[in-house]
Amino acid sequence: MLLAKSAFISVNQRPMNDILQPRNGRLSLTNSSHSTHTDGMDDETTFMKTQWAEVDENGRLTLPPEVAQQFGLTPGARLRIETERNNFRLHRPVTHLAKLYIEATNHCNIDCATCMRNNWDVEIGFMSEETFGHILSNLEEVGRPLDITMMGIGEPLAHPRTIEMIAQLKALGHRVEMVTNGTLLNEKRARGLIEAGLDVLWVSIDGATPENFADIRLGAYLPKILENIRRFRRLRRPAHHPVPEIGIAFVAMKRNINDLPELLALGKSLGATRFSVSNLLPHSAEMKDEILYKRSLNSITYLPSPWLRHLDLPKMDFNELTAEPIIKALSSGYNVTLAGNNLGGANNVCTFIESGAMAIGWNGNMAPCPPLVHTHVGYLQGYERTSIKHILGNVRERSLLDVWHDPEYVAYRERVQQFAFAPCTSCGGCEIAWDNQTDCYSRPAPACGGCLWAQAVIQCP
Ligand code: SF4
Ligand code: SF4
Ligand code: SF4
Repeated sequence: MLLAKSAFISVNQRPMNDILQPRNGRLSLTNSSHSTHTDGMDDETTFMKTQWAEVDENGRLTLPPEVAQQFGLTPGARLRIETERNNFRLHRPVTHLAKLYIEATNHCNIDCATCMRNNWDVEIGFMSEETFGHILSNLEEVGRPLDITMMGIGEPLAHPRTIEMIAQLKALGHRVEMVTNGTLLNEKRARGLIEAGLDVLWVSIDGATPENFADIRLGAYLPKILENIRRFRRLRRPAHHPVPEIGIAFVAMKRNINDLPELLALGKSLGATRFSVSNLLPHSAEMKDEILYKRSLNSITYLPSPWLRHLDLPKMDFNELTAEPIIKALSSGYNVTLAGNNLGGANNVCTFIESGAMAIGWNGNMAPCPPLVHTHVGYLQGYERTSIKHILGNVRERSLLDVWHDPEYVAYRERVQQFAFAPCTSCGGCEIAWDNQTDCYSRPAPACGGCLWAQAVIQCP
C-alpha cells in the first residue's frame, strides 16, 4: 500500500523581492530590510515554540541553527521560494537526503481490490540480509538520522526479519515508521515492534464495518485487526504520549467515503493520534469509476492564481447549518483560501522529492519514490497509464550517497521541484501520456506530469 509528507520552511511577513543565497548557513537577502520570523505556536504553554529568523546588518536572513540543520541548509544549497500574500515558503534544497522508504517485501498475505499488485507482472521477493546490510552501511556513511518508513507494495510483517531490521535502524538513531495491513500483528510481533523502538505504526483500514472493510480488503477480517490494534495499544508503555504512536491510513473511494466519520471515531477509540486519507489510484478498469476527484484536477477551487476569482473563507463551525452553504461556496468557481491558507497549496509539488526521500525495493533497487520502484498500471482521467519503474542503481552495487549526488539525478530532482513537466493530470489526455517515458514538452523519463502524488490527490502517511 502506498500511501508522504512535505517539508517546507514557512516564513511569515511580507513577500521577499530578492534572491536568497545561503552562505555559511545563512540566507543572504539583498534589497530588503523587513524583519522576518518563522511561524510556530506561541510560548511554552503550547507544544511548539515560536522560532525566529532575523535579518542581520548585511541584509542576510539568518535562521536558527536547528532549522538550518533540519532542512539541510548548508553553504551552496539552493532553495525554491514560493510567495503568497502574507508569507513565503522555502522548499527543502534538493541536495538534502532526509527520508528513506524501505520495502522489506512485495509479497502480501491479503488481496485488496485497490492494490497495484492486481495488475502487474513483477517478481515477488523478500529483502535479503545481505541487501539490508548494504543499506545499513550506506546509512552509516550518511552519518545522520533519517526518517525511515518501512513501506512498499507488500506487507512488511510478512517478512520474517522486518522487526529485526527496525531494531537495527533504531539502534543507529533513525526515526522509523511502518505501514501495515494489521492482519499479522499478533502479540509476539506487537511486543517486538514496541521493543524495537518503532516510532509510528500505521494500519491501513479502508472501511468502518466488517462488511464494507471485507468488500475492499479481501482476505482480512476487521474485528481481528481491531483486536490486534487494541492489544498493541495495551502493550505500549503508558505515557502521556505513548510510543509507538498509532496511525490509521484510509483510501477513500465512492464505496467507502461514508465510513470516514465512523472510522475517525473508531480510530480515536483505538488510541490513534494520526489519520492519513488518500484518494484511490485505480489499477483496474473495474475500480476506475470509484474515484472521488473527477473534477478536482481541473477545479479552480484548488488553483491559486492572481488572475482567477478569489474567495477567502474564515474559520467557521462545520455543522448542519454551515455544511451545505460551505460546500456550495467551495464549488462556486472561485479559488479558495481557508483561514489564510490556499486550498491548492500542493499543486505540482512532489511530496517525496520535497521531503528529500528515496525508495529502496526488496531487491535493493533504488528509485526516487515508492511509485517508481515497480512498473505498474493506473488510470488517469479514465485512460490507462503505465508508470514504468525508474531505477537509479542497486544498493548492492552503488552506495546511496553516490546515487544521491549523481548530477543526472540531482538535475531530475530539480526538474521535479520546478515541476517542469506537461500538465497531464489536468489535460484531457493523449497517446504520449499512456506511459511516463516522455510528454509533449519532450521531457526525458520519468515524466512526472501525470503523477497524482504530485497533485496531493494520492497521499502516503
Ligand atoms: S495490504 Fe492490500 S494494498 Fe497493501 S500490499 Fe497487501 S494487498 Fe496490496
Ligand atoms: S502529453 Fe501533453 S497533450 Fe498529452 S496528456 Fe500530457 S499534457 Fe496533455
Ligand atoms: S512526481 Fe515523480 S518523483 Fe514524485 S511521486 Fe510522482 S513519479 Fe515519483
